[in-house]
Amino acid sequence: MKFDVVVVGAGPAGAKTAYELARKGAKVLIIEKHKLPRFKLCGGCLSARTAALLPEGWQGQVLNEIKKGILGFKGKEFIEKTALRAVAYIIDRTSFDHFLTQKAIEAGAQLWEEAPLTHFTVENTVKISTPKGTVKADFLVGSDGFYTKVGKILGYQKKNFFRSVEFWTEGNLQDSVVIDLGIVSRGYAWIFPKGNMLSIGVATTGRENLKDVLERYVRDHKLLENITVKGLKGWMIPYLTKPEDAHLGRGRILLVGDSANLVDPLLGEGIYYALKSAELCAQSILSSPENPLPQYRNSLLREVIPELVSAGKIANLAYRFQRVAYRMGAGFSLERFFKLLEGEETYESLYRKGMPEFIMSLLHIENFLHIIIDKILRRR
Ligand SMILES: Cc1cc2nc3c(=O)[nH]c(=O)nc-3n(C[C@H](O)[C@H](O)[C@H](O)COP(=O)(O)OP(=O)(O)OC[C@H]3O[C@@H](n4cnc5c(N)ncnc54)[C@H](O)[C@@H]3O)c2cc1C
Repeated sequence: MKFDVVVVGAGPAGAKTAYELARKGAKVLIIEKHKLPRFKLCGGCLSARTAALLPEGWQGQVLNEIKKGILGFKGKEFIEKTALRAVAYIIDRTSFDHFLTQKAIEAGAQLWEEAPLTHFTVENTVKISTPKGTVKADFLVGSDGFYTKVGKILGYQKKNFFRSVEFWTEGNLQDSVVIDLGIVSRGYAWIFPKGNMLSIGVATTGRENLKDVLERYVRDHKLLENITVKGLKGWMIPYLTKPEDAHLGRGRILLVGDSANLVDPLLGEGIYYALKSAELCAQSILSSPENPLPQYRNSLLREVIPELVSAGKIANLAYRFQRVAYRMGAGFSLERFFKLLEGEETYESLYRKGMPEFIMSLLHIENFLHIIIDKILRRR
C-alpha cells in the first residue's frame, strides 16, 4: 500500500497535519499507538488565538471560556484581571484530540489505531512498519509527542523539558484560571477549570519532588479548601529556547509539535504550536512536493521560532526573579498577556516593552533589600 504521507500520532499536531493534507486531496494515513479516544494528560487551555487554526465545529469542544486571570504568589497573594472577551478556552484532550482526528477522517484521511510505529527506512520512498502491517509513503510526519520514536530513529535526544504533574478534582472556577509563581524554582503551579471540575498541576525545569510540592500547594492555598491530591499523573513538556533546538527532521521525514520541541518555554503552551507547525508542515508538503523540508524550516524560522526564543528570554527572567514577575502582573503585564493570548501581541514585543518595567521593579526590590541589610549591619 502506498500513501502520499503517513502521519505518526493522532494528537493535535498529527490530526491537523492529516486534515490539512487530506482536504487538499493528498492520500494520507494516520497511524496511532492507542485506540481512540485516548487519554492525554494536559491542562487543556487553548489561547484564544488558537481558534484561527481549528476546523469548523471546534466551539462544541469548549468546556469553559476564560475571561479572568488570577496571578498568585505562593498561593497566598493574588492579582486579578478580567477581560471583556474570552482570552482562552478550556477543552478536554480526550474529546478534543478525537474531534480533530474525526475531522481529518471526514476530509479523507485513513486511520490505523493500535498501530504504533516500530521502524522506518528511507530509500526512494519511506517504508513504515507497524504491528498492523507495512506501508510506503513519499513523506513521513512525526507527530508522536515527547517520547517520539520518529525523532529517536533520527538520533534526536530531548535536552530541555518541564517535568509536570496534574490531577483533577471537584470544584468550579468557571471563567477564571489561576497561575501561581513562587512555588517551584523554575516554573509555576496552576488551577484551571475543567467544566465542573478543576485541573491542578505544577510544571518545573528544576529538581523538586513534584508530588510533595503539589501536596503542599493544595494544602496551603488560600483559594482551595478540603482538597486532597488523588490520581496524580506525570508527563514531560519539551521546549526550545534556541533555533538549533528545533528537531525538524531530515529528507523525507518532517517533525511537528512536541516531537519537534515546538513548545513555549514560559507557559509550556504546546497545543497552539502543535497546530501551527502542522499547518506549516502540510503547506510545505503541498507546495514543494519535491523537497518540503527547507520550506517548512524557513516558515518556522519566520513565524514560530523567534516567538519561542523571546518566550525563553522572558522565562529566564520571570523564573529567576519570581517576586518581581508577580509584582509586574499588577502593572500592565497581565493586560499585555491577555493580548498575547488573543494574538494581538507577540512575545517579542512583550519582552521589549516589559524590559524597562522589569528593571525598575528589580531595582525597587534590590533597593529595599539594601536598606534592610544596611540597617541590620548598623545595628551590629
Ligand atoms: C501536565 C501537562 C499540562 C499541559 N497543559 C497544556 C495547556 O494547558 N495548554 C497547552 O497548549 N499545552 C499544554 N501542555 C502541552 C501539550 O499537551 C502538548 O504540547 C501537546 O499535546 C502537543 O501535541 P502533539 O500532537 O505534538 O503531541 P501529543 O499530544 O503528545 O500526541 C502524540 C500522539 O502520538 C501517539 N504516539 C506516541 N508514540 C507513537 C508511536 N510510536 N506510533 C504511533 N503513535 C504514537 C500518542 O499516543 C499521541 O496520540 C501540557 C502538557 C502537560 C504534560
